[in-house]
Amino acid sequence: MPSRPIYLDYHATTPLDPRVWRAMEPYFCTEFGNPASASHAYGWTAAQAVQRARAQVAALIGAAPNEIVFTSGATESDNLAIKGIAHRHGGRPAHVITSAIEHHAVLDPCARLEREGFAVTRLGVDRDGRISLPELEAALRPETVLVSIMAVNNEVGVIQDMEAIGRLVRARGALLHSDATQAAGKIPVDVKRWQADLLSLSGHKMYGPKGVGALYVRDGVQLACQLDGGGHERGRRSGTLNVPGIVGLGEAAALAQAGLEEEAVRIGALRDRLLERIASRLEGVRVNGSMTQRVPHNLHLTFHGVEAEALMMSMPELAVSSGSACSSSARAASHVLLALGLTPGEAQGSLRFGLGRFTTEQDVDVAADRIVACARQMRELSLP
Ligand SMILES: *Cc1c(COP(=O)(O)O)cnc(C)c1O
Repeated sequence: MPSRPIYLDYHATTPLDPRVWRAMEPYFCTEFGNPASASHAYGWTAAQAVQRARAQVAALIGAAPNEIVFTSGATESDNLAIKGIAHRHGGRPAHVITSAIEHHAVLDPCARLEREGFAVTRLGVDRDGRISLPELEAALRPETVLVSIMAVNNEVGVIQDMEAIGRLVRARGALLHSDATQAAGKIPVDVKRWQADLLSLSGHKMYGPKGVGALYVRDGVQLACQLDGGGHERGRRSGTLNVPGIVGLGEAAALAQAGLEEEAVRIGALRDRLLERIASRLEGVRVNGSMTQRVPHNLHLTFHGVEAEALMMSMPELAVSSGSACSSSARAASHVLLALGLTPGEAQGSLRFGLGRFTTEQDVDVAADRIVACARQMRELSLP
């Protein structure tokens, strides 16, 4: 069997850590109880497992266990946070602030609110990919109910100054939501220090299972729930809990927390090695987004005069991406790269490299060699 491509797309999804799988396994067949079954031991065992996972997820982000709402993933968490806050006062249209570089799971609920009569401000970013704090301050109005700013961007890996953003938003009496899907388990996340009122994360972006995520809801914050039913999750999200998934999310959170610093150092060194081995041998390569305010496992490069789609096709031994997995079939230039000031042509000459827990030095070296060789070849072919 031919060997599989080297996986450098950890922003799209991550493999399940085998330790997470071992923690989950009993909850599929043996410990199958419904945590809402309060009358027998099957239910109690499942409820205990969920309670433990709730504490593990809470610990990763500095929250209390009762502030964690389990969901089906970050898309649902973002929708619940944004629509849940916007609609809690009987739908009286108000003002929402977000950024131009958010994931569609934030952009699209905001666009829906706009169609419903809400005012929406989308903050731009600078060349580094960061929002401007004075611009945020100027955008805040008395009727602003929610500010939703992602902690880490899923394409360029740029980290926002969440602590400073949180200070501004709290001082003006609005609520702060952060899509921290690409931050949780990768950099320290602390809802108290950030003064976040709501925060989204997802299992499959941090070596947990797909189809499970969480929304942190600060104690006392009221949401209009989006799924009506049995009143699970203290009325905030009905539906029988995905016990194996939740156990996996909890274990993934605990592993990420325990290995956070060591992993950041190791993966950051691999990322720097990848950049060095490409940029030192290939002309016309530029990094997109801040190199200092950036998660250690992300690299995003523009290859001058090269079509990213064609470059990817020419190196099937690498699993990389030209943008977010959810929109990469659309073929339109990335809204994130355009917001950073790239031209559509530059955006279409760009690739995202996502490294992770199972990336090796050999992976990086093989990948760098392929990228350099293929980019050179494409440039030669396109010469007149
Ligand atoms: C992956 C991702 C999402 C969507 O998460 P799912 O759990 O797949 O729904 C939302 N926001 C960001 C920043 C992401 O990277």
